[in-house]
Amino acid sequence: TAKQRNDGAVVYDAAIDKSSEQSLSLLTELRNAVERNEFRLFVQPKIMLGSGKAVGAEALVRWVHPERGNVFPDQFIPFAEQTGFIRVLTRWVMEQSAVLCRQLAAQDIKLKISVNLSTRDLMDQDLPVKFAELLARHELEPSAFCLEITESAIMDDPVRAQNTLERLHGMGMELSIDDFGTGYSSLAYLKRLPVDELKIDKSFVLNMENDIGDSKIVRSTIDLGHNMGLRVVAEGIESEAVWRLLARMGCDQGQGYFMSRPMPAEQLAGWLEKWQP
Ligand code: C2E
Ligand code: CA
Ligand code: CA
Ligand code: CA
Repeated sequence: TAKQRNDGAVVYDAAIDKSSEQSLSLLTELRNAVERNEFRLFVQPKIMLGSGKAVGAEALVRWVHPERGNVFPDQFIPFAEQTGFIRVLTRWVMEQSAVLCRQLAAQDIKLKISVNLSTRDLMDQDLPVKFAELLARHELEPSAFCLEITESAIMDDPVRAQNTLERLHGMGMELSIDDFGTGYSSLAYLKRLPVDELKIDKSFVLNMENDIGDSKIVRSTIDLGHNMGLRVVAEGIESEAVWRLLARMGCDQGQGYFMSRPMPAEQLAGWLEKWQP
């Protein structure tokens, strides 16, 4: 039921792998993976599109499985969300991101680290307290972090999600709406939630140079975000042409393979030293 993807990642066929026995063993494997140190923190730089300056990095988790090799998040995050294991993983990502933040600070590098949250995280009433404890332990300002939330994560239980988000934002952590434009009723959230950043999904960006429809959506989203007083970030920048186009449209920041693929966290400082736009 597993096949090799062209980038070397192993892909599992969800339709075949859904038997409860296999699910149980995947959950066991995920739990063991924490103890066995099989998760790795990868990061992708966030760049100011006007100046080329690196101002942040998004934390993206990888699972290095002893037999399966690199397992990409799409292969286990949805399952981790279903089973609630995601809470353990989010904590792990936050811890590792805090360690990275301290290491960078020791080298006089100041970058905002973005961490992805899931529905289950937002349903956890204790999350703000847990994060406050973690930040204090690492002696980090809450503003060193930005939390990325998808519209669908908010949709599940909007009242509870809003409560958690208001507390996190009240502490001083920044909030970003991830995959913007791919969910439902995004506009209502923009009005109600204490959001700082809006992230345009890569599906609109990848081909915006050739697709007039995509390009119009991107342009409108940038204007919408700015009219709401938000920072606008584009993901999926794979060419210099798309960077230029986005910069001309006034998009504030971007991420993408053109600047850098996600890399192991320990390589970030070296990458920053060499990076020149
Ligand atoms: P996302 O949050 O939308 O992250 C962006 C994805 O786009 C990442 O895939 C990144 O590697 C990829 N990407 C970045 N630049 C480019 C580009 O120029 N071209 C293309 N084609 N792709 C690009 P990745 O790392 O495989 O992560 C997939 C999704 O898994 C993420 O989507 C996020 O929803 C989830 N995820 C990853 N790490 C975590 C985590 O620690 N916690 C949670 N809750 N979710 C995570
Ligand atoms: Ca994200
Ligand atoms: Ca996305
Ligand atoms: Ca996503």
